[in-house]
Amino acid sequence: MTIALHGSGISRGIAVGAAHIVQRNALDVLEYAVAQADVEPEVERLSAAVEEAKQGLRDLRGRIPANTPADIAAFLDTHLLMLEDPTLTDEPKRLLRERRCNAEWALKMQRDAIVSAFDLINDAYLRARRDDVDHVINRILRILLNHAPAKHESGEGSLEGLILVADDLTPADALLMQQHGIVGFVTECGGPTSHTAIIARSLGLPGVVGVPHARQYLLDGESLVLDGDEGVVLGDADARILTYYRARRDERQKRVSRLAKLKRAPAVTADGVPIELLANVELQTDFDLARAAGARGVGLYRTEFLYMNRLDVPSEAEHFALYKRLIEAFRQQPVTIRTLDLGADKQSGASLSARAHAANPALGMRAVRLGLKEPELSLPQLRAIVRASALGNVRLMIPMLSHVDEVVQMRGLIQGIQAEYAAQGISHDPNMPIGGMLEVPAAVAFADGFARTLDFLSIGTNDLIQYAVAIDRVNEEVSYLYDPLNPGVVRLIDMAIRHANAAACPIAMCGEMAGDPRYTRLLLGLGLRCFSVHPSLLLEVKQTITESQIAPLRKIVGRALRTAEIGRFRELMASLMARPV
Ligand code: PEP
Ligand code: MG
Repeated sequence: MTIALHGSGISRGIAVGAAHIVQRNALDVLEYAVAQADVEPEVERLSAAVEEAKQGLRDLRGRIPANTPADIAAFLDTHLLMLEDPTLTDEPKRLLRERRCNAEWALKMQRDAIVSAFDLINDAYLRARRDDVDHVINRILRILLNHAPAKHESGEGSLEGLILVADDLTPADALLMQQHGIVGFVTECGGPTSHTAIIARSLGLPGVVGVPHARQYLLDGESLVLDGDEGVVLGDADARILTYYRARRDERQKRVSRLAKLKRAPAVTADGVPIELLANVELQTDFDLARAAGARGVGLYRTEFLYMNRLDVPSEAEHFALYKRLIEAFRQQPVTIRTLDLGADKQSGASLSARAHAANPALGMRAVRLGLKEPELSLPQLRAIVRASALGNVRLMIPMLSHVDEVVQMRGLIQGIQAEYAAQGISHDPNMPIGGMLEVPAAVAFADGFARTLDFLSIGTNDLIQYAVAIDRVNEEVSYLYDPLNPGVVRLIDMAIRHANAAACPIAMCGEMAGDPRYTRLLLGLGLRCFSVHPSLLLEVKQTITESQIAPLRKIVGRALRTAEIGRFRELMASLMARPV
C-alpha cells in the first residue's frame, strides 16, 4: 500500500527510484572511566581519530570534479576548519585528562556543551550551524567506534538511480551522492537552511528533509517517489503513481531544456516593451547560476552571510575580496551590493544589539538602523564598497529605510569615506549610485520623497508584506496571512511604482514576489520594468514576460486597483495568473 510522508522540500524537482536506506545513527556511546595509566593512550586514540577524520575529508575534497560549484568545496573546508578548532578537539582532551573519561564520552560531553550553547539562540540559520558541529563530531565518533562506512561513503557497489534515505546527511554525503549517481534523498533531520540543503540545491538534487521516522516507514529497495516541490515522499508507490510521476519528471526536464533556449533571448514583452532582468545572489554558486541563466546584472547581493557564524566584525579587506569576486563575475554589468541587513531573522554573533533578544525583533534594531547605531559594524563594509566602486558598475543599496533622515546619515558616512579616499588618492567612483529598499509601508507612502534623495529604489516585498499585513514573517501561526495578493499590498506596490515613475527614479523589485512567475503579469500591469530574482527562477519569469502584452494587462490591473469588491478583485487576479493576456 502506498504511504505518503511529509517534510520540507529543499530543492525542486521530482525523483523516482528505489529506496536505499542508510542505517547509521546508532552511535551508542559507552561512558566509562579509564585508569590513570591509560589516559595518555586514550588521548592518543582521540588524536588519531581526529587525524583520520581530517584525512577522509581531504581525500573527498581532492576528488571533487572540476565542474562542481566553487562553494561546495568551501563547505568541506568549513568542516575541516572545525576539525582544527581547539574548542572541538583540544577541549575533549582536557576533559579526558581531567575526568579520566573515555574518548567517546569526552567528545560527547563537548558536543553537548556546544550544542546547548546553539540551542539558546532563537535563530533558524544559526541552529542549522549546530548541525555542522554534530556532523563533524559524529565523523570522529564513528571512527572511534569502528563503524563501517555506509555504502555511498565506501563507494562499494552501484547506487545509480537510487534515492537515499538517512537520518541526516552531511555536505560531504551530498557530494558523494552526486558522484554515485543517486537521484534524490530523504532525511529525518535537517532543515531548509542547512549546508546540506544548500549543496543539494546547487547540485540540482531533489530532496525532502525533516521526515520523522522515514527509515521506519520506508523499506530498502521499494519504489519511492520524491517530490521536492511539495516536500512529499511516497513509499511503495504502485504502477499508476509511478507512471504519473515519471511523466511529471520527464515533462519538467523538457520544460527545463525549453527554458534553457531562452538564456540568450532578450527579456522583451510580446508587444516590444524591454524589461530588465537581474539576479538576487548570495553565494558564489549563485554567481555561476545567474550568469548561466543570462542575468543582466545583480539587483540584490545579500551580504549578511559574511557576518554570521562569527563573533568578530568582518574587516574591510574581507568585504573587498568578496565584492571584487562579484564584480569580476559580472564584468561591466551592474552589481547592487546591499549594506548589512542584520537583525530579526538574520542574526549575527558580531553585533551585540542584533544578538539582544528584543520582544519584537522585526520591529527593532535591524538593517540600516543597526548599521547607523554601530558604525564599527557598517564602516568596514561601506569603505570596501566605495573602494570596489573603482572596479566596475557598483551600486550601493540600503535596506529597510523608514525615514529619509536615514538616507542623509548614510550618505554622510559614504561621502566622508569618499573624501578620505580622494585625499589619499585611492581610486573609487565618486558618482556610485546609492539606492534604497522600500520595505516599510511608511517609506512606500513617501516613495517620492525617497526618490529625491536616492538614485534608485527596490521594493522588498518579503518585508513589505510582513509590515503591511502586520505579521511576523517567521511565525508559522500567522503565515496564512502572508499573501502578495492581499489587495492592500497590491495597492502599496502600485503606489511605490507610481511615486518612483513620477519622480523619474528607476524602481525594481527584489522580494520573492518578483521571482514567482504567477505574479509576473500582475507586476507588468502595475508598471514594473525591472525584476531582480533568484537565478533558478529567472528563465521562467523571462518566459512569462515574452508571452505577455502590456496594454491588456494594464487594463485588468487598473480595474483591480479600483474595485473595493473582494470577489471581483480575486477574479481579476485569477485571470492574470491563469494565462498570458
Ligand atoms: C525583502 O524583504 O523583500 C528582501 C529582498 O530582503 P530580505 O528577504 O533579505 O529581507
Ligand atoms: Mg528585507
